[in-house]
Amino acid sequence: MAPAPAIVWFRQDLRLADQPALAAALDDGPVLPVFVLDDAAPGRWAMGGASRWWLHHSLASLDADLRARGSRLILLRGDAVTLIADLAAATSARSVHAMYHYEPWARRQESELARRLALTLHHGLTLAPPARMTTKTGGAFKVFTPFWQALQQMMPPLPPRPAPDRIPLAEGAPAGDTLGDWGLCPTAPDWAHGFAPVWQPGEAGARQRLADFADLAAGYGEARDRCAEEATSRLSAHLHFGELSPATAWHAIAEAAGPAGQAWLRQLGWRDFSLNLLLNAPDLADVNWRRTFDAFPWVRDDAALTRWQHGQTGYPIVDAGLRQLWRTGWMHNRVRMIAASFLIKDLMIDWRAGETWFWDTLVDADLANNAAGWQWTAGSGADASPYFRIFNPVSQGRRFDPAGAYVRQWVPELAGLPDDLIHAPWEAPPALLAAAGVRLGETYPAPMVDHARARDRALAAYKAMGERG
Ligand SMILES: Cc1cc2nc3c(=O)[nH]c(=O)nc-3n(C[C@H](O)[C@H](O)[C@H](O)COP(=O)(O)OP(=O)(O)OC[C@H]3O[C@@H](n4cnc5c(N)ncnc54)[C@H](O)[C@@H]3O)c2cc1C
Repeated sequence: MAPAPAIVWFRQDLRLADQPALAAALDDGPVLPVFVLDDAAPGRWAMGGASRWWLHHSLASLDADLRARGSRLILLRGDAVTLIADLAAATSARSVHAMYHYEPWARRQESELARRLALTLHHGLTLAPPARMTTKTGGAFKVFTPFWQALQQMMPPLPPRPAPDRIPLAEGAPAGDTLGDWGLCPTAPDWAHGFAPVWQPGEAGARQRLADFADLAAGYGEARDRCAEEATSRLSAHLHFGELSPATAWHAIAEAAGPAGQAWLRQLGWRDFSLNLLLNAPDLADVNWRRTFDAFPWVRDDAALTRWQHGQTGYPIVDAGLRQLWRTGWMHNRVRMIAASFLIKDLMIDWRAGETWFWDTLVDADLANNAAGWQWTAGSGADASPYFRIFNPVSQGRRFDPAGAYVRQWVPELAGLPDDLIHAPWEAPPALLAAAGVRLGETYPAPMVDHARARDRALAAYKAMGERG
């Protein structure tokens, strides 16, 4: 009689190396590697368009890696709890292994499945298990610095384990769905055509990106805010889909950059911090963490939101960021903050509208990091930038894109302007605008708001909220 198989339920941990659920299943016997596309469970947070593009390629890569080791990925679509339980029953599986995830729907699925069969959950999504990240009094961390100090006490993480050489496929494995039938990639129009030249989803792509970044990591602390440069790792989507374990990233950068790698490791610590916040506030993506913000008088202006989404605000650094996002599925962190501040403060549009747009357009869209990033910018978050810190898009542009290279790349209609004026084309004399082929309001929009006035309006609204709250 064939030995009873063990199921590995892959979720956002699409890798073979340093994959504790896979390692544990292999100890149990032949393995059934499964991924379930369950669009109903997350409700409003079902995967967005750009993430689905990434997922398609990541699953293809995982399947190829499994096949190279004698196995394959079984794809199922529908209610994950029912499908995994049915598969276990049909194959007489002796165990199901998965990794802990922290989205509220993922935790719901884990507890429902655990009621139906022998589910073993493994840590590995974060640098340290969130259950161990408590303050001295046993509470949840609300501020990053003490969290980071506590996290560092637990570092380095365990050395990562290599991928198994062979992964025997259990007998009776169902054929499952065909990836192409899931329609995860756009067809007409193919708005993702700019993604493939930039990204290589999957474990091999993640490792290559990590190796490339290791050479630059020592300079990260100094260069990370210069948005025209490739000075950050661009590992966020690989980390979100779990193609790379955070422990692997930690060891690689600590080894390559030594003490100079600290600035980057600290940033990786923010990822753990956001996941801890989400675990302790499961509605973080939907509700102001500081409830006083429930009284904030957000403006509902769909036309303004559309201009922001399309990179047509008339503020070059904001527009460059939103166009980079649309074309590549990613935006530089500094520009995420500037663009988010512009939406929330200059336009006074609810941060959740921006969060939703990012969710659909980012390849690294991540419930915890996205919610934490938006709430940080809004001032409504746990360890947030105060609301009255309002980014000036012109001075931010001049400071972090001094030669205008970022704007020239993404807003080419302004490329002919000199460096000092490219972040404020309305300050350019008419002759200079004409020489650069710029007609404000025609070839490029005039600013949709006056920043100084918009700032005053936002501060007055914030003050009124404080007086009411
Ligand atoms: C409004 C807003 C929305 C954001 N939405 C997301 C999102 O949906 N998904 C996402 O992964 N990040 C998000 N971030 C955080 C950050 O912008 C990205 O993680 C980073 O730009 C990714 O590029 P990188 O991989 O080159 O980062 P690096 O600078 O190389 O950082 C290394 C890794 O650390 C983590 N990290 C870096 N900064 C942060 C941070 N501030 N918070 C949490 N983790 C961080 C990421 O996993 C990142 O890959 C958001 C930030 C803001 C301001």
